Amino acid sequence: MAPEPRCRICGDAVVEFLDFGTQPLSDAFRDPGDTAEEFTYRLAVGRCGTCGMVQLTEEVPREEMFHEEYPYLSRGSSVMREHFRSLAERFLTTELSGDDAFIVELGCNDGTMLKTVAEAGVRHLGVEPSGAVADLAAEEGVRVRKDFFEEATALDIVATEGQADVIYAANTLCHIPYMSSILRGVTALLRPEGVFVFEDPYLGDIVERTSFDQIYDEHFFLFSVSSVDEMARRHDLELVDVERLPVHGGEVRYTLARPGARKRSAAVEELLAEERGRGLGDLAVLERFAERVRTVRDDLVALLTRLRAEGHRIVGYGATAKSATVTNFCGIGPDLVEFVCDTTPAKQHKLTPGSHIPVRPSEAFSDDYPPYALLFAWNHADEIMAKEQAFRDAGGRWIRYVPDVHVV
Ligand SMILES: [Zn+2]
Repeated sequence: MAPEPRCRICGDAVVEFLDFGTQPLSDAFRDPGDTAEEFTYRLAVGRCGTCGMVQLTEEVPREEMFHEEYPYLSRGSSVMREHFRSLAERFLTTELSGDDAFIVELGCNDGTMLKTVAEAGVRHLGVEPSGAVADLAAEEGVRVRKDFFEEATALDIVATEGQADVIYAANTLCHIPYMSSILRGVTALLRPEGVFVFEDPYLGDIVERTSFDQIYDEHFFLFSVSSVDEMARRHDLELVDVERLPVHGGEVRYTLARPGARKRSAAVEELLAEERGRGLGDLAVLERFAERVRTVRDDLVALLTRLRAEGHRIVGYGATAKSATVTNFCGIGPDLVEFVCDTTPAKQHKLTPGSHIPVRPSEAFSDDYPPYALLFAWNHADEIMAKEQAFRDAGGRWIRYVPDVHVV
């Protein structure tokens, strides 16, 4: 029997409430001829009874996920490019201490945010372990250190470059199980008046929308305002501001500072009160969420099976990391979905992890529109539906599964 999972924030027991079974790595796209056994793990989610943090019960070694070929690029979406540009402008105008200003980004990916900082001539450093995306950042004129961020990395940066006004991380912090080392590093690296800003998928949105595909190997923690508040307190930091963000299916941007360094905004208390009102931290609420997840699975499989039985082609849209949870949890393979189209060259002509559905370039979609497209990249739905108006004009219909299974 597996050992009882322990909370990666406080060390107490984690109570499991949702089990997705055996899963592959969400970004392990596979060559068609490859017969090697795939790396798998058990994807299950639990909640710590003491600090309330919702987290995976099993962790995948970081080198398995964030390696030379890590395929996700921030710059792929025009909405995300604008999101990061406006945030960089905000940092540049409101958070810098003077001539010696310094901004550090953890998991800077392809440099989409830091590019604006670099162009403004402000001292910066991106820390990024995934080699190929780090090279893309360097090509944009961004200074990158190819490394995982942890306490030792932070101490080394402090020794050579000094402390930072802003430490920022987008869709990175929730990836990292060894949070204590990260937060010790942050407190060492942060200037006395500095801010640590991070944004990640929000448990409140995941539960409200039943967007269970936000749960996969890379999303180790599912943060809520109350659990981040508690996590900050345990690491000698204070949660001073929160903002809800519409990107990636619903995120929250958290701002942490040294205790007493900043006034806590009213938004923090408002969201804390909202979470208490919804019972977001209650195990019973999370168990009802798990029930709805199983209903979505059953409804989606029933719909796809019926459409295929009626002779309709179905193509997947967006070979996203999050779609690995959907296809493998639901048992959706090439018998139901003919192929998945995606704009990322590194994924094209490969097979999706575990479910082994072929991935083809976008032209494969537009060259011969299917009657149905299963929208895996639903977090970019507005952008995609506007771009693919010709598919609708040709009579095509979108299959969606968030917040429930429906055809539009
Ligand atoms: Zn805990």
